[in-house]
Amino acid sequence: MLALICLALGKPSNISQTPVIRGTYEAEVKIFGSNDTQNKAKMLIDDLVKRYGQNYPGDRTEKGKKFTMGKLLDLPPIERNFYKESQKIASMPQEEVEKLRKENNNIICDDLKEGEKRHVPNPVCKFEDAFQYYPDVMANIRKVGFENPTPIQSQAWPIILQGIDLIGIAQTGTGKTLAYLMPGFIHLDSQPIPRDQRGGPGMLVLAPTRELALQVEAECSKYTYKGIKSICIYGGGDRKGQINMVTKGVDIVIATPGRLNDLQMNNFINLKSITYLVLDEADRMLDMGFEPQIMKILLDVRPDRQTVMTSATWPDGVRRLAKSYLKDPMIVYVGTLDLAAVNTIEQKVVIIPEEEKRAFTRYFIDTLKPKDKVIIFVGKKLTADDLSSDFSLQGIPVQSLHGNREQCDREQALDDFKKGKVRILIATDLASRGLDVQDITHVFNFDFPRNIEEYVHRVGRTGRAGRTGEAVTLVTRNDWRIASELICILERANQAVPEELISMAERFKQFQMKKEIKKDLGRPRGKSWKGF
Ligand code: AMP
Repeated sequence: MLALICLALGKPSNISQTPVIRGTYEAEVKIFGSNDTQNKAKMLIDDLVKRYGQNYPGDRTEKGKKFTMGKLLDLPPIERNFYKESQKIASMPQEEVEKLRKENNNIICDDLKEGEKRHVPNPVCKFEDAFQYYPDVMANIRKVGFENPTPIQSQAWPIILQGIDLIGIAQTGTGKTLAYLMPGFIHLDSQPIPRDQRGGPGMLVLAPTRELALQVEAECSKYTYKGIKSICIYGGGDRKGQINMVTKGVDIVIATPGRLNDLQMNNFINLKSITYLVLDEADRMLDMGFEPQIMKILLDVRPDRQTVMTSATWPDGVRRLAKSYLKDPMIVYVGTLDLAAVNTIEQKVVIIPEEEKRAFTRYFIDTLKPKDKVIIFVGKKLTADDLSSDFSLQGIPVQSLHGNREQCDREQALDDFKKGKVRILIATDLASRGLDVQDITHVFNFDFPRNIEEYVHRVGRTGRAGRTGEAVTLVTRNDWRIASELICILERANQAVPEELISMAERFKQFQMKKEIKKDLGRPRGKSWKGF
């Protein structure tokens, strides 16, 4: 039970690790932390006790735990291993495996299970190596005409198909969606209880934004597998329609955490049947503050499920999430967020006064060629509206994408841009990650982003799938604190660094030094240092 509570809290350190046991089923749990954390923990514990309280038997053997989980939910244990390694892949010499990983975007993998490390399965070379026993999957792949697995797919499939939890560090555009969808289809169709008798969906994909959720849904609906049905649930979409679809019965739910939480709290959806969970773009979900919603959702999902998590980056928050919600995972890194590796993008920086930015942007637009496609990134929703109405008045067709627009307008904007009906999209950072539009030739940073990571994501919207791209970034005096980080990025990617940017970085360094000295001088001496 304590393990379940820790799992739900995601912060095991807030609970005493040595509960006082009274009798067979009772335990006293000490909770540490701020009042807020304590209240939250208490709420979660009460909820868990109410749900699972008296039913937790407590057989600590591996067999016992498996039985317990199934019993806990009155369901048979989950089937997870669907991988039969082909002779060719199994007999590949280790040097060849290493060479293959290196040549495939430098795949790096590791087993994160504590204790003795397991063998990370060899990557597959061809689709048949993973799916030769699943002719319906092969038929789908033939239908869409893909030639070879992408690097993330070649390494992720043998891991996921064996039922092992996976963390995939990969960006959109790497084929990560199919990396979890295909094994998901097989998993869904191979469980002991037939799909129509599970009382709810079997697979849940959580995605940070409506756009990404819709994109995953679009990818999912390209394939037909044994009549599996999917639905996309997102805020701003037709709530009633979504509820109708869910209650009629679906196998895959692709959702943003907010709306799913809403349907879950109101008992419109049963998540207890979920045996395959995907946390897509986990870093982005944390950035957007979705952790509490994810925690609540996962309280209902089967604790013995298989979990796949993707993330473009691997910061502390994502590590913590992985530790709390994945069980003995393996990790696969492909490619890198390092723009130095994306040498097909030319990055230009223009130092400019704030009041000249609009005129320069107009000049930039006038230099575009008819086939060019550009995303203009701005910092505020208001600026996006303002710029787009300015350009529309000047007879320049543009679309805009930001969080204050109605969902249907957002979808229309993206569709117009994807199909090339407009060639200029003015967007906030909503569009900096995840959007898969292959033919963007230019990224134009009208406002510098909040941080350098976002800069990397924005610039990565162009130069996709081996194409060349150009990123133009306007930098004003107000952006001086990012100058030195920007210089590092430019230097690593062998790009020109403007002199003015260098002197801006130096001025900021001087300014900070002066501030530190001032702070030091102002610090009271003597007794206040005591006990420091
Ligand atoms: P994703 O990274 O999942 O957003 O995928 C980016 C794009 O790559 C999507 O349009 C996929 O349909 C496509 N894709 C996925 N797998 C492959 C593959 N093996 N070969 C070629 N394209 C692929």
